[in-house]
Amino acid sequence: MAEHVLVTGGAGFIGAHACKALKAAGYVPVAFDNLSTGWRDAVKFGPLHEGDLLDRASIDAAFATYRPVAVMHFAALSLVGESMRDPGKYWRENVTGAANLADAAVAAGCLNFVFSSTCATYGDQDGVLLNEETEQKPINAYGSSKLAIEQLLGDFEAAHGLRSVIFRYFNVAGSDPEAEVGEQHLPETHLIPLMLDAIAGKREALTIYGTDYNTPDGTCIRDYVHVSDLVDAHVKGLEWLKSGRESRVFCLGSGDGFSVREVVDASRAVTNREVPMIEGARRPGDATALVSGSRRAVEELGWAPQRSDMATMIADAWRWHQSAPYER
Ligand code: UDP
Repeated sequence: MAEHVLVTGGAGFIGAHACKALKAAGYVPVAFDNLSTGWRDAVKFGPLHEGDLLDRASIDAAFATYRPVAVMHFAALSLVGESMRDPGKYWRENVTGAANLADAAVAAGCLNFVFSSTCATYGDQDGVLLNEETEQKPINAYGSSKLAIEQLLGDFEAAHGLRSVIFRYFNVAGSDPEAEVGEQHLPETHLIPLMLDAIAGKREALTIYGTDYNTPDGTCIRDYVHVSDLVDAHVKGLEWLKSGRESRVFCLGSGDGFSVREVVDASRAVTNREVPMIEGARRPGDATALVSGSRRAVEELGWAPQRSDMATMIADAWRWHQSAPYER
């Protein structure tokens, strides 16, 4: 019988793509989601278990029903700006939620844990290329909450033998090239989908958050990685744990930095349309530049990104944007 994997946040952007990749790899992905930001329509590759990480009984019920071989933990609040305004919410939902999930996994004897962390745990490091050894000094509550969960997983390994693969993502972009699932948030706050909305006339203009950063064109630099490539690494991380290997941290980025203006230029080129935009103030909590300098996932996991060049990511996002977005 096919093995089950519990995918928290399986109705969200990255979780839904992970479910697709897990199914393709022969697993049954069980989407565990409270549908607060996820989409029922995005659960297409296995069952949906509606539950909440702040409700321990609902997590225990999922483990008892499906007996998963591993957990992939995506469910989290992930908005830098919101985390600066309401840090308590991030500590409660992200950190307490993860503690409940890890406790439930241990109680069920499910000791393989793949965790979705972030380059936001590094903070602002003056443009250095970031890797797994770089000191973590978050500058927003989102990053702090994810760093706390990384530490929590270390404590759970020492106490209970819970092994983990931690992925620190750079900026996840693009959508499933087959447009079965895609990037959609309500409200939308991410650069590329907001820009595509502006291009399509669904909102007035994109606001560039800050043009006075210490970068060549004054706008923030990020490293964008295609969601399909990202979730492929997760399947490899799962297999790493299942084969009995040690806990490990991997950065997942393309290694190329793009400024906000460069992303706008690439979108203009891919869609062949103008991008309505205005220049605005900095967004609190944003780092100047976040770019991966790591080769560890490539060298140790055999990760081979296929679609993480900017033009392909925007073309895939644009195809999804023009197809059939989810209904609430
Ligand atoms: N950004 C922007 N305007 C927007 C949204 C984002 O200029 O409306 C910038 C933001 O300051 C950051 C980059 O685009 O430098 C990526 O932001 P996003 O919110 O997509 O991802 P994050 O880096 O917060 O994970």
